[in-house]
Amino acid sequence: MADVELDPIAEAREIAGAAAALVRELVEEDVCEFERLAPPPAASAAAPEASPSLSTSPTPTPTPTQAPAPPRPAPANQPKSAPAHTFSAPVEIGAPVPWAGRQPSLDEVGAHLGDCQRCGLCEKRSKIVFGDGNPNADILFVGEGPGAEEDKRGLPFVGRAGELLTQMIEKGIGIPRSEVYICNIVKCRPPQNRTPLPPEVAACRPFLDGQIQAIQPKVIVTLGKPAASLLLDREIAITRVRGTWHDYQGIPLMPTLHPAYVLRQYTPENRRAVWEDLKAAFDRSKADNTNGAS
Ligand code: URA
Repeated sequence: MADVELDPIAEAREIAGAAAALVRELVEEDVCEFERLAPPPAASAAAPEASPSLSTSPTPTPTPTQAPAPPRPAPANQPKSAPAHTFSAPVEIGAPVPWAGRQPSLDEVGAHLGDCQRCGLCEKRSKIVFGDGNPNADILFVGEGPGAEEDKRGLPFVGRAGELLTQMIEKGIGIPRSEVYICNIVKCRPPQNRTPLPPEVAACRPFLDGQIQAIQPKVIVTLGKPAASLLLDREIAITRVRGTWHDYQGIPLMPTLHPAYVLRQYTPENRRAVWEDLKAAFDRSKADNTNGAS
């Protein structure tokens, strides 16, 4: 067989090209953090771990008899002695809400949330971040989960991403932030600001839905991929769906980029994209609209 001549420079270029393509894809998917997972157990030893996808083909309701999921392997940079996850939910997830079939008040939803212990996020939180703003808002913003500053203050979007969101609302659409309502899909901070896991999102879902039912906004704006994926009930690519109208239970829904993503990718294109999305949301909230996407 003839010798194949290797060209190391061409090979290096090819590898660099593939890496650049992968990075572009990850940026598109808004992936910014990576966890080094322990090597998988021997093939026969265990069932595959559930994907942390937020796509919400209805999350199965765990029954009290179900065995708890095995703990996730600790990231490599955590001390080996970190305590194992010891949380056990005392409140049944998927339990009926007291406001079933009627419009609750935000206070009622907040009172039912109480000093929530429904998922493991309660273990590390300082404060529950329920939501903030006008209970009769025309526009409801839904983010992903509280960060460090939000966890400290008990208010959503008060860190750097929050400052940008506030600017976009006040300077971009020209209304005070206090006129809208802002909340997140989970009400407690995920450690290291990681994306909330499906059981955490499922445990918090009745409270997000309760907030939507209480406020009955004219328009919902989702910030980033997890919130849009949750409410659209499918895994979305945020850069593809942003700027297009959708429907959440009869309420027009506009997905836009998360302000933290805009801070990381602070380009005129991204800033213009969010401005256009918010402007469209505002205009629609003021139009005498029939609900639903069009
Ligand atoms: N990012 C979010 O998604 N929500 C907050 O409240 C803050 C930062």
